[in-house]
Amino acid sequence: MEMVDVLVVGAGLAGLHTARLLARRGLDVLVVDRRGTLDTGIRTTGIFVRRTLEDFALPAGELGPAIRRVLLYPPSLRGPVELVSARDEFRVAGMAGIYAHALAAARLAGARVRLGVSYPVPGIAARFTIGADGARSTVARRLGLDVNRRLIVGVEEVFPVAVSAAEPTFHCVLDPRLAPGYLAWVVDDGRHAHVGLAGRPDRLAGPLPELLRTFGRRFEAIPAATGAVRRRGGPIPVGGVLRRLACAHGLLVGDAAGAVSPLTAGGLDPCLRMAELAAAVTGDYLRTGDVSVLRHYDGAALRRRFRTRLLMRHAWSAVRSPALTEAACTLLRTPPGRAAASRVLFGDGSFPDVRDPAHGDAGESRGPTGIAVPR
Ligand SMILES: Cc1cc2nc3c(=O)[nH]c(=O)nc-3n(C[C@H](O)[C@H](O)[C@H](O)COP(=O)(O)OP(=O)(O)OC[C@H]3O[C@@H](n4cnc5c(N)ncnc54)[C@H](O)[C@@H]3O)c2cc1C
Repeated sequence: MEMVDVLVVGAGLAGLHTARLLARRGLDVLVVDRRGTLDTGIRTTGIFVRRTLEDFALPAGELGPAIRRVLLYPPSLRGPVELVSARDEFRVAGMAGIYAHALAAARLAGARVRLGVSYPVPGIAARFTIGADGARSTVARRLGLDVNRRLIVGVEEVFPVAVSAAEPTFHCVLDPRLAPGYLAWVVDDGRHAHVGLAGRPDRLAGPLPELLRTFGRRFEAIPAATGAVRRRGGPIPVGGVLRRLACAHGLLVGDAAGAVSPLTAGGLDPCLRMAELAAAVTGDYLRTGDVSVLRHYDGAALRRRFRTRLLMRHAWSAVRSPALTEAACTLLRTPPGRAAASRVLFGDGSFPDVRDPAHGDAGESRGPTGIAVPR
């Protein structure tokens, strides 16, 4: 039987970042992922928000041009609400490159990574298991922790676009028939157009790929002559951070923990922030053996900070009428409506900073080669 201190299940951003931080603490860390390579099976669009770009050193060469302009469309697609920020708000990353950097950084710190290996892993015994295995976490079930119950499903296709002088723009279409409970999007950063939609699986009007093609044609977003270079999709947990995230045998991080902004469905910033707290708490627990340390990894407390956003999600999720959505978009054109939309899209509140001062990774700084590097 092979013994390790920590088994991290999942080599997404949450798993790789947690593994790197734990290995830096001198722990024997093994990461497994059922994917054979990290440039396949990518689910995410890869939109990073300003706050992540400010706080984490993502490899600059993998980041697309900055996006400052958002257009919000009603179901009729007429008269979109235009919001323009004075700051660079979003960048779409080449996710294969981001994962490759995170993998290299984890290995450099001393973590071992085995790809093409599914959990549970016969022949490996771990003192502690970290479930970074996504929205439908097997680790959560096996450890008896909470599991995600509110999920939307998303799909997107990525097309090359001719380089143009047009301003990079994030187009968001609010239409409960097309994307019930969420939205359809086209992100055109002048290099690629990501055309996607996500919604409540129980209310989608047909198979996702078909809906996506209809949307793309209606929006005139899909270049006629070119095929998609990539297709992606998967479940997104939107029910908020789960309450019971940790026990004496392990804990959950990233999508497995429900760490996705309930309103924007962005999960890349939360998974990086949560990884830092997860690593700090795990390190302390394994060093001291004191199970009370795990109380610092408190899903219920984190969840409380999302109350308003969870309420807004419930409200948006219940809307079925295109006419009501059309009316809501009219409100978004008023100064208070624009201010509220700007707060959601450009504000700093996508996910609270969960680094616990008592358990923060002091000495951490951001450098050009990894997700974050030691000073
Ligand atoms: C279509 C779509 C678009 C999105 N776009 C954005 C976006 O633009 N911006 C944003 O912030 N968020 C976005 N999200 C959400 C974001 O992608 C996720 O929140 C984030 O990637 C979660 O990272 P993670 O590491 O927790 O999980 P994942 O990246 O899902 O990684 C989990 C890993 O665990 C592995 N795994 C699962 N089960 C096992 C097992 N039993 N054994 C071994 N390995 C296992 C999987 O292979 C996978 O590699 C999007 C999601 C979807 C579905």
